[in-house]
Amino acid sequence: MKNSVFMEEMDAFTYREKLAKDAVVFIPVGALEQHGSHMAMCVDAALTKAMAGATAEALTADTDGALEGIVCSAINFGYRSQQRSGGGFHLSGTTSLSGTTIISLARDICYSLIEDGARKIVFMNGHYENYQFIFEGAELALEKASAEGIKNVKIQLLSYWDFVDDATIQELYPDGFTGWDLEHAGVMETSLMLLFYPDLVDMDRIDPALYTGLPAELPNYDVLPIVADYTPPSGCLSHPGASTREKGIILRDVAVANMVIAIEDERFETHYGVDWKRTIAAFANLVLHFSSNEFGGSTITQQLIKVLTEEDDH
Ligand code: ZN
Ligand code: MN
Repeated sequence: MKNSVFMEEMDAFTYREKLAKDAVVFIPVGALEQHGSHMAMCVDAALTKAMAGATAEALTADTDGALEGIVCSAINFGYRSQQRSGGGFHLSGTTSLSGTTIISLARDICYSLIEDGARKIVFMNGHYENYQFIFEGAELALEKASAEGIKNVKIQLLSYWDFVDDATIQELYPDGFTGWDLEHAGVMETSLMLLFYPDLVDMDRIDPALYTGLPAELPNYDVLPIVADYTPPSGCLSHPGASTREKGIILRDVAVANMVIAIEDERFETHYGVDWKRTIAAFANLVLHFSSNEFGGSTITQQLIKVLTEEDDH
């Protein structure tokens, strides 16, 4: 059997061994939704799974094998696509779950992993609209674990695009960046698809007659029932024309590197049970509060807080 970070490609004994070594378990959360005529509908789930896989491997490489990653099967459906971030759930092909279903899925899968022994869980989101529902499910799983006497669980939630830094955004969007919400089927997703799943992209199907009105100009409010005309005819919210595989490599590398840092930071704190740096910083804040009106104690304490809180920066 091949060596894989993907749980569905792993035998149960290998899985248990990895969990016994306190592996980080990723849960990719995506969607099945239209992404114009130039990409397959799996984008959000497929990219999140690929990014989680790359992050799991990078985590092991960065820690010289000390920290392993397991990527659980993805949640392949997402919360109702919104017109202002995914074109809208009225579009054919977009197959939506209700918020309560996502909450239940996130809670049940997360709790099942906790029962298996997972103590460090990372929800990686790839569909803008999912986030708060995953958050709710994670909190419910944590509450259930706590009620069962399992107290040392840490759950992290993130959307991978939030780890693309400003310098990269400036490099990849020289004509200006319209925001991650409007990136639906745009340069980021298309470039990453060209990297990870080139067979599921066809740039020749970007028909100029269809790909008009981009980036989309949408009202700053929602309307129900949906006004279909607000969504551009392609279903995309920004133009994917400038997408390349090379941009996909840049996006993957910067996002993965920054996610590894964030996961290692949280892993360290869990390991010792108490976040000492924040505890000392909180104490220093208290001292600051009582000494702020006296002989410059505030300056010294502020410097202490600065040193303590900046130590984690990379
Ligand atoms: Zn998408
Ligand atoms: Mn989406």
